[in-house]
Amino acid sequence: MKIIFLGAPGAGKGTQAEIFSERYGIPTISTGAIIRQAVRDGTPTGLAAKSYMDRGALVPDDVVVELIRERLAEPDCRNGFILDGFPRTVPQAEALDRMGIRPDAVLSLDVPDDVIVARMSGRRVCGACGATYHVTSKPPRVEGKCDKCCADLTVRPDDDPAVVLDRLSVYHSTTEPLKGFYEKLGLLVSVTGQDTVEATTELVLAALEANA
Ligand code: AMP
Repeated sequence: MKIIFLGAPGAGKGTQAEIFSERYGIPTISTGAIIRQAVRDGTPTGLAAKSYMDRGALVPDDVVVELIRERLAEPDCRNGFILDGFPRTVPQAEALDRMGIRPDAVLSLDVPDDVIVARMSGRRVCGACGATYHVTSKPPRVEGKCDKCCADLTVRPDDDPAVVLDRLSVYHSTTEPLKGFYEKLGLLVSVTGQDTVEATTELVLAALEANA
């Protein structure tokens, strides 16, 4: 099963992708997480990507396409995967198609911008392993500490409200056209992601089943 989660930053793609990943036993591939790991590791790709990321801009297509090509070639992707945050541009979607990868469904999580801005201010990320939390909807067991590795939780630099507005504008101008791209292929399924995590999961499940 190959599913793409589409949606604005903060729409809840990562959270839903993790839930579906466990449910179906397939990995979630998040280009944002791969890039943040490369930044932490100080690799040449990470160093080149950091300046784009910190200001809320997209990392160039060729860099991200190469990262995803390598990741999808790994053995754990053989039975399927969930893509979270890729593709984010029409050229990236075309590159995926040229790799011979046809998604079974493209799930768009639709959330209004004002809800997103409010949500992002509560998002936290583990500085060591990259696990993500939210102060109200997905709190860690111990405040400020990662459940998985106990390291300190931090606010992502690109979750600063001014940067979030820039990221939303990039989403509307560059990523949202992908809805039309996948709609034409008959693959687009849209759900609203404004309610609780659990309610959104139910909507996503129902939408995927209706589409199967
Ligand atoms: P995310 O964690 O998905 O919100 O991604 C964080 C940041 O990583 C984005 O704002 C971009 O700078 C970069 N990034 C992640 N995925 C992509 C992608 N598919 N194309 C370009 N840049 C990306």
